[in-house]
Amino acid sequence: MEDDGKVKAGVNTDMSNEKILVTRASMPPYEEYIEAIRPLWESHWITNMGQYHRELEKKLKEYLDVPELSLMVNGHMALEMAIQAFDFPEGAEVITTPFTFISTTHAIVRNHLQPVFCDVKASDGTIDESKIEELITEKTVAILPVHVYGNICNVEEIQRIADKYSLKVIYDAAHAFGVKYRGRGIGNYGDASVFSFHATKVFNTIEGGAVTFSEHRLYERLYNLKNFGIRGEELVVSIGANAKMNEFAAIMGLCNLKRVSTIMDERKELWQQYQDRLSNIAGIKLFYSHSEINKNYSYLPIIVDEGYELSRDELYRKLREHNIYSRKYFYPLTLDQMCYKNKFKQDNLKVARNLANQVLVLPLYSELSINDVDKICSQIG
Ligand SMILES: *Cc1c(COP(=O)(O)O)cnc(C)c1O
Repeated sequence: MEDDGKVKAGVNTDMSNEKILVTRASMPPYEEYIEAIRPLWESHWITNMGQYHRELEKKLKEYLDVPELSLMVNGHMALEMAIQAFDFPEGAEVITTPFTFISTTHAIVRNHLQPVFCDVKASDGTIDESKIEELITEKTVAILPVHVYGNICNVEEIQRIADKYSLKVIYDAAHAFGVKYRGRGIGNYGDASVFSFHATKVFNTIEGGAVTFSEHRLYERLYNLKNFGIRGEELVVSIGANAKMNEFAAIMGLCNLKRVSTIMDERKELWQQYQDRLSNIAGIKLFYSHSEINKNYSYLPIIVDEGYELSRDELYRKLREHNIYSRKYFYPLTLDQMCYKNKFKQDNLKVARNLANQVLVLPLYSELSINDVDKICSQIG
């Protein structure tokens, strides 16, 4: 079956001399997309909340099993708009994690808010809920945790803390497309969740993103934020940005959405093979998988600890020599990046620092074959 996948994708079956990258954007068959965009040449309606924008919003709402959803031009703007929608006072504090893509921290800072970094758990890389309360001050307004690699935060405990201190909860769910917890779409937790549909994510609209939420009032607010606050030909009601998804992207999403379950099934097989091959290698650890979660098999992070024969960086280089391009997601921690160096408190981030120094994300995408996975694993142990 892995060979079928390759013939379909037009990829050489012999991968020995080809680079294996950490991911590969999934694309619908060329003809399918071309047929699907044809009507745009009749209507000339190629952006501004057209038919396909509205249709994708509706379909994603169903797929993600959420009451409300607003489509955005990308995940980062979705995150910025989601934060802005709550009108927090300037300089207020948001408790978040540094073990994430830089976008999470940027979105807080670009909203003129102060990120306060909480450590994560070694078991799955998500925010350590037992350390949140000690970071709360009079200025705290929100918690912004990340479902990193599609591993789900302790949503119940986070909600309990938020309720106790009247804080908002905004999840960065960029990695968690289609993940369900106890049978419920992950976008139902907190006050809002943000998804990314970037080319490298498990479901893509080339570039794209969405905010999910339950309070209907937020739909209007986000609509205004993503479309200049324009509500009529001569009427601007609020100060908005431009963060709309265009019709070409929405159609890509509609095409990819049809195949996303199949893609996840294909990923699951590869993911399982990795688990089987890697689970007994000294010094290689895999993250804990919660049994009540329907995973999306979006990433394959491994922890290379002291018990392994090579350091994380040595393994990274060794794989590269064999044309296998793993990635150190997420090293360095966001607050250690040049633009943030020494700007924020660094206390008690030992687990996050350790993870950042030991984590390696291995290639995982539906067109990879079981043979490729075996080849990658053979280089590891
Ligand atoms: C990808 C990603 C984003 C940003 O999404 P884009 O669609 O690339 O703008 C935000 N947070 C995390 C954790 C991500 O991985």
